Amino acid sequence: MKKIKQIYEGKAKKLFTTENEDIYIQEFKDDATAFDATKRGTIHGKGVVNNKISTKLFQLLEKEGVPTHFIEMLNDRDMAVKRVEIVPLEVTMRNIVAGGMAKLLGLEEGIILDEPVYEYHYKEDSLHDPLINNSHIKALKLATDEELNTIKELSYKVNDALKEFFSQKNLDLVDFKLEFGRCKGKIILADEISPDTCRLWEKGSKRKMDKDRFRRDLGNIEETYQEVLKIVLD
Ligand code: UDP
Repeated sequence: MKKIKQIYEGKAKKLFTTENEDIYIQEFKDDATAFDATKRGTIHGKGVVNNKISTKLFQLLEKEGVPTHFIEMLNDRDMAVKRVEIVPLEVTMRNIVAGGMAKLLGLEEGIILDEPVYEYHYKEDSLHDPLINNSHIKALKLATDEELNTIKELSYKVNDALKEFFSQKNLDLVDFKLEFGRCKGKIILADEISPDTCRLWEKGSKRKMDKDRFRRDLGNIEETYQEVLKIVLD
């Protein structure tokens, strides 16, 4: 399988067509952005780490009954995926208060939530991905009720599986972002799952092991990404 034409370049990935019209290749880059891309940088080796971590987590989720766009890892930076039409929503699940939720509601980071907080953000950079609810989604015709039910059910399944997986590895899954796509009339999990899209804290010390090291200039960024890869693959 080979890349034919680049059809999209995002902040952290490029997307290519292949000789098979139902299959795309996503290439993971080392570029890092934060705060609506006002902060930019490079995390050397990040693309390789995120490709390998996403591969492992998509495989795990498939086993748990979550359909994903993952087909296979082709090499260090490239993953073959099913062609989907991305639903323009960023779904976030939160187990511990951090980041956007702490800011929005004036809460301390680190408060453990009694039950997960489930959010939709409209995936639209020019509007800064605003927080929206089911009726906004309906009004904007971003997804049907049936699709939203599936997205919610799958998101909770992902949270249960990943919380358990990371917990066994001495990491707390604080929060994460998911994107879904339509593939032959079915909703499946797309995009990536990596330290770029999850907050992971070492249990006890609460050491941040994710993109907050870049966002907040905490140092040891490359080393921490490599450490998470090792933990995930162990
Ligand atoms: N997130 C992401 N992409 C985004 C926004 C958020 O992957 O465009 C992830 C982020 O890494 C975190 C979770 O979603 O794990 C919740 O992010 P939050 O809403 O707190 O926003 P942030 O503080 O990252 O701006």
